[in-house]
Amino acid sequence: MMKKHYDVIVVGGGVIGSSIAYQLSKRGRNVLLLEKNKLASKASSAAAGMLGAQSELEKDSPLFRLARKSRGMFPKLAEELKELTGIDIQLVQNGIFKIAKTDAEAASLASIISIQKKLGESASWIAPNELREWEPSLSEYIKGAMYIPNDGNVSPPNLSRALAHAAIGLGAEMMEHTEVCGFIKETNRIIGVQTMIGKIFADETVITGGAWSEQLLSQLGIKLNTYPVKGECFSVRVKKSPVIRTIFSKGCYIVPKPDGRLVIGATEEANTFDESVHLEGLVQLMQRAIKLIPELTCAQWEKSWAGIRPQTADKTPYMGRHPLFEGLSIATGHYRNGILLAPITGLNMAKLLEGEEIEAPF
Ligand SMILES: Cc1cc2nc3c(=O)[nH]c(=O)nc-3n(C[C@H](O)[C@H](O)[C@H](O)COP(=O)(O)OP(=O)(O)OC[C@H]3O[C@@H](n4cnc5c(N)ncnc54)[C@H](O)[C@@H]3O)c2cc1C
Repeated sequence: MMKKHYDVIVVGGGVIGSSIAYQLSKRGRNVLLLEKNKLASKASSAAAGMLGAQSELEKDSPLFRLARKSRGMFPKLAEELKELTGIDIQLVQNGIFKIAKTDAEAASLASIISIQKKLGESASWIAPNELREWEPSLSEYIKGAMYIPNDGNVSPPNLSRALAHAAIGLGAEMMEHTEVCGFIKETNRIIGVQTMIGKIFADETVITGGAWSEQLLSQLGIKLNTYPVKGECFSVRVKKSPVIRTIFSKGCYIVPKPDGRLVIGATEEANTFDESVHLEGLVQLMQRAIKLIPELTCAQWEKSWAGIRPQTADKTPYMGRHPLFEGLSIATGHYRNGILLAPITGLNMAKLLEGEEIEAPF
């Protein structure tokens, strides 16, 4: 039977909400996770699951430092979640090749390698001949690659499910198919939420509604300045993967998964919530992928899908308390890196709500 008062209500059961619910439950908070659809049915299942701290974020910035920290949390988190829930998040730590298709891309990667090395990160240039010794199926025309040994990938749906179920194992409650449609206010304090099944009260409310956070918060007159960015992906099955490591290039990545699938993504289309898949995007991705690995023409089709990434105007995620409403926090805007950033977002938001110090990333 659902209680009517919680320490914290987390609105949105994607990877971000699930990670916050887990970290708060670990600290003994009494948490309710509310999800209007099914757990992790939106961006958090659409993701390819790359932990691309160095491949996605190239130069030094607070976000880069946060991403590296979050990537470093995965090995321990994977063990913890396996022990608590039995779910394997399929952590793969065998590196990413960031491909140069032209001389200009090769020069740009050389400069990124030098910057990242100065920051203490592992990164090296792999010349075309050596690259084909590592990954013989890559096309002849490729000009070399930046090798990033510490980037990897996980299974996004497994990660979200494991985080939410670990939270539940520690005492949290979760309600799927329960939309939050409004807030309960006492002067400038948020004291709970209005749902389809009635009012639920909490000391703290955290909004983790991904690309849909802005719509919900507009009821309080809050303008988040975020926008949706649709991404399409597809997957194929192969008897033996033509590549061992993730191949990351401008406009197309190929992620080999431990279960014999290759996930190929992703398109980018801003300002739409339409989750349908269009041939135009798929054809482009297929052409780019086959150009990188010609033998992909023989791969067996599995499926395609689309998801909506939450992006912010300044390209930096929101994580913190709202300055005007007490009891209201927001964690969204993780764009292409929400899977990678989920562990550190969960930890920092839990610390923030507990009044603990966090290393300010921004
Ligand atoms: C094609 C694609 C590929 C990607 N690849 C990667 C990758 O390789 N690596 C990586 O790190 N990231 C990747 N991402 C980005 C990553 O998926 C997102 O940044 C992350 O999933 C965002 O998580 P979230 O929890 O904020 O949002 P979501 O997963 O969208 O979750 C938000 C949840 O809130 C719920 N909700 C919304 N409003 C309400 C309400 N009013 N009441 C109740 N519930 C509500 C929604 O139903 C939804 O389930 C990719 C994204 C896409 C689309």
